[in-house]
Amino acid sequence: MAAARTVLLTGSNRGIGLELVKQLLGSPRPPAWIFATCRDPEGPRAQELRDLASKHPNLVLVKLDVENPSAITDAAKVVEGKLNGMGLNLLINNAGIYTPTASLETVDAEDMVRAYKTNAVGPMLMAQAFLPLLKKAAQDSKEKGLSCSKAAIINISTILGSIKKTPDSFFHPVISYRCSKAALNMLTMCQALTYKESGILCVALHPGWVKTDMGTQEADLTVDTSVRGLLSVLPILSEKHSGTLLNWEGKAIPW
Ligand code: NDP
Repeated sequence: MAAARTVLLTGSNRGIGLELVKQLLGSPRPPAWIFATCRDPEGPRAQELRDLASKHPNLVLVKLDVENPSAITDAAKVVEGKLNGMGLNLLINNAGIYTPTASLETVDAEDMVRAYKTNAVGPMLMAQAFLPLLKKAAQDSKEKGLSCSKAAIINISTILGSIKKTPDSFFHPVISYRCSKAALNMLTMCQALTYKESGILCVALHPGWVKTDMGTQEADLTVDTSVRGLLSVLPILSEKHSGTLLNWEGKAIPW
């Protein structure tokens, strides 16, 4: 399976997003364009991304806050201009937020809404805004079926959003995070059913418990291992996976 030629990621200035950028750049056949979006490409938290961009002409930094609908449409225009008639093969909705202390006793309306806005509404708006470019990639591809090298939306979700699996991890309630990611899982299924006819694959991926600011240093996996896994799952995805949740090793997780 060929690799995606044009890729866009959200939340790419640190954690899993930054590692995805690094490993995509270092892959044997790197994408022609990687659009690494983040909230503040000029700020101190994007220094590593800027250092990478100064060495890799195929890496383009784009300002994008997934909570801001007009920032999303502005970013889509910038990317369309840069692609200059090409489509976008792969959209990775990676940006996410997490409130570790949100139990049913402590969670409040504001936290619920904030998590929903970033973790579910953001990916929904991203797919809407980038749909014309994803459709273009699918139309221009000679590949049959669905694949990440043709056109795909990958929503970075979590096993904590699986309703079936909740009893196994409920010692860690994280209510706002779980509910927002369960919504993202539902969104993934709705996108898969809708965008199938446009030739776009839609999958939710769980990266494992990863040592990042969000996962903390107590987590199971290094960011390197998780991202290596995620990037080895992408090329095996086909229509049979669209509308499913898989982990970083490609194993199915029930909704
Ligand atoms: P981090 O907290 O390390 O990084 C989160 C990233 O999301 C940052 O780049 C952050 O940008 C960005 N972000 C947050 N809000 C917004 C926003 N409104 N607009 C744009 N970017 C935003 O998290 P991880 O790298 O660990 O997580 C990445 C994804 O993986 C998330 O969706 C998370 O839910 C998921 N995941 C992570 C697990 C883990 O164990 N780490 C486990 C399961 C899933 P900024 O620097 O501006 O804040």
